[in-house]
Amino acid sequence: MSAETETPAQPLRVWVDQDLCTGDGLCVQYAPEVFEFDLDGLAYVKDDAGELHLSPGSRVDVPGHLRLEVIDAARDCPGDCIHVLRAADDVEVAGPDASE
Ligand code: SF4
Repeated sequence: MSAETETPAQPLRVWVDQDLCTGDGLCVQYAPEVFEFDLDGLAYVKDDAGELHLSPGSRVDVPGHLRLEVIDAARDCPGDCIHVLRAADDVEVAGPDASE
């Protein structure tokens, strides 16, 4: 398999850097199954059981049917703080550290 392959079928993971989150809620609008506000008014990621991950840097798997929504959220996030990584090699495919 080519290291450059970035087919949409590859499993992705996502995390949010709360230090930069503006709390505007764009990500929650895009993918409420993946992003949710906690009481502090900042966005956190949720796993497929609906559990919020509050530890800094916590990653969750991106559900296959929400890949595009999560990538769009990372690209449009005003805080530049949503990081979408390929699960296989941790390469960031959308977010502030993506190479594209
Ligand atoms: S889009 Fe970005 S800045 Fe806005 S609430 Fe979500 S993580 Fe925070």
